[in-house]
Amino acid sequence: MHIAVVGAGLAGLTVARQLQAQGHHVTVYEKSRGVSGRMSTRQTELGGFDHGAQYFTAQSDRFKKEIADWKKFGWVVPWSTRLVTLENGVSTSAGRSSIRYVPVPGMSALGKQLAHGLDVRLEQQVLALIEHDKKWLLSVQSDTVAIPASAGPFDAVILAIPANQAEPLLSVAPLMAKQAVKARLSPCWTLMLGFQTSLDLPYDGAWVNQSRLGWIARDTAKPMHRAGERWVCHASPAWSVEHLEDDPERVRDKLAKAFHEATGSWVQPIHAVTHRWRFAQAVHPLNVDCLWNAKQGIGVCGDWFAAGQDGAGRVENAFLSALALAKTIGT
Ligand SMILES: Cc1cc2nc3c(=O)[nH]c(=O)nc-3n(C[C@H](O)[C@H](O)[C@H](O)COP(=O)(O)OP(=O)(O)OC[C@H]3O[C@@H](n4cnc5c(N)ncnc54)[C@H](O)[C@@H]3O)c2cc1C
Repeated sequence: MHIAVVGAGLAGLTVARQLQAQGHHVTVYEKSRGVSGRMSTRQTELGGFDHGAQYFTAQSDRFKKEIADWKKFGWVVPWSTRLVTLENGVSTSAGRSSIRYVPVPGMSALGKQLAHGLDVRLEQQVLALIEHDKKWLLSVQSDTVAIPASAGPFDAVILAIPANQAEPLLSVAPLMAKQAVKARLSPCWTLMLGFQTSLDLPYDGAWVNQSRLGWIARDTAKPMHRAGERWVCHASPAWSVEHLEDDPERVRDKLAKAFHEATGSWVQPIHAVTHRWRFAQAVHPLNVDCLWNAKQGIGVCGDWFAAGQDGAGRVENAFLSALALAKTIGT
């Protein structure tokens, strides 16, 4: 079959690789300038900031096995680091013991590796799926062409994108659209801070309680990341929802103040930039592996499927959901 995959995050790249290995002809469409989706690294003059996913863990044997391969290829390494919980300026040992992995030299590196050998069309946003002669055409918008172009025909289309973005494309499959509506993703405001000198804090990452922030991490403490003093700060889900439409400069100032209060360090940053993730983490996952309608030739996968896990919204869910969908489609 000739299959279009929409989205080149971990789910899209995984399903594309599997389907290609199964003998299908696969084309991946990605709206951004690069692959990896929310497992991304923002490059700056000071170095990269892993401003989306921070690390990943593995519960399932299948994901553990995949990570073992990635480790062997030198794509990911364990991140054993000093993590604490901060509350009202007091730090306590975090006591969460799973093995954490990070791609090197930055989060987006894994997607770049997985994209090798795939036909990935960057800066191509899929606007609609159009049924034509029992096949699919995609209406695709790119910056280089003024009007949407038509791509295809494809025998099947797979959406590997957040539920909120999948729903409008699923108007051609109303039952699937109804499922996507149930699985919303919550937003996350992110602040990237760069400092001239070391902050000399006795930890490299912290869950933050009673604060606008929920998590902070010293990016430069991750293995094989460029040296320096760069911190990524994630606002709490509640604060991000409440301030979703705020002016980015106002958000920057408020989150920078929260960082200073949480850490007790008042050193002024030389770099302070925000990023708003509108769809960051799945709050109400669907309790299935993926969706597939063989008659229509439409599939959906991503981190908003529980895929046999206790929770969702993690890298492992994206991987397992993609794998399940490729297996369901078969050869
Ligand atoms: C702030 C933050 C912190 C996180 N922390 C962690 C963590 O510590 N550990 C963990 O395991 N997980 C974490 N996650 C979640 C993790 O990043 C995701 O679970 C995982 O990356 C999801 O992969 P995906 O392929 O399902 O989706 P995505 O990575 O979102 O990929 C979807 C891709 O589709 C593209 N796209 C969307 N619409 C279209 C369209 N119409 N046409 C073409 N392309 C389109 C997007 O640009 C994107 O590249 C975090 C996420 C965020 C945002």
